[in-house]
Amino acid sequence: MADKNKRLDSNVAGNFFVDATCINCDTCRQLAPASFEELGKFSAVTTSCT
Ligand code: SF4
Repeated sequence: MADKNKRLDSNVAGNFFVDATCINCDTCRQLAPASFEELGKFSAVTTSCT
């Protein structure tokens, strides 16, 4: 489970986010490409879901 204390600034505002434990495995981007993008070394939620 993502830790709000490790939330990456690259995420859009909202309830869903990627945190700094992301290992950049690409799974979220493959499963939900409309919501996630690769930004730097990590993924980020780039479309607000709230
Ligand atoms: S790339 Fe996506 S699925 Fe993989 S660790 Fe990072 S946030 Fe999780």
